[in-house]
Amino acid sequence: MKPFEETIITAEELVSAQAFHGHKCPAMPQGLRAGHLAMDILDVSRARGGGELIAVVETGYHHFSGCFADGVMVATGCTVGKGNLVQKPLGKFALTLIDPKSGRAVRVIPRYERMSQCLNMDFFKLRAEGVPPYALDPDVVEPLIEDVMTRPWQEIFEVKEFTHYPYEKAPEIFDAVQCAHCGELVVTSYAHKYGEQWYCGPCLDQMLHTGGMPVESR
Ligand SMILES: [Zn+2]
Ligand SMILES: [Zn+2]
Repeated sequence: MKPFEETIITAEELVSAQAFHGHKCPAMPQGLRAGHLAMDILDVSRARGGGELIAVVETGYHHFSGCFADGVMVATGCTVGKGNLVQKPLGKFALTLIDPKSGRAVRVIPRYERMSQCLNMDFFKLRAEGVPPYALDPDVVEPLIEDVMTRPWQEIFEVKEFTHYPYEKAPEIFDAVQCAHCGELVVTSYAHKYGEQWYCGPCLDQMLHTGGMPVESR
């Protein structure tokens, strides 16, 4: 790994990330740190548009530490809206950041020891008992945030670098058609042509499942 200087995450950035995220927890800042670390290693800037960086997060849905993905979004600028945040729901906690221009990528993996210890902490025990994160005593949460923000990254993450990461560039689509059944607008690459007409996914499914032409829209 080439030497690099780790970006200092400012208190302002943490506060604005917490405002975006909605509560204070240790997983979001861990994603913030992972995102910055990956950008530092790749020597790239925060994504302004959809094609500059791609972030792949492996967190799934409705499990502990899923908040990691929000920190990644804030740090890297890879977001759901820009289409450069890919959620590959594996129930794991790594971030892969890809620089499409150079083909380089880095996978930042929270260390096993650290993640497994998490589950024994009061924060996660209380969360498992059903206490929402925003209702937790700050004394329980703040030390964990402090720890994730200040500990040397090597103790938190393992890092793997790739010089040629397989990545297929998808073009941005700027056309759309009207679904012949529901009348709603659908981006052409998501629409289906049946006979001479275009249909959206749900309407085509309905046609296929009912075995005929779609019922009249009311
Ligand atoms: Zn959270
Ligand atoms: Zn439709």
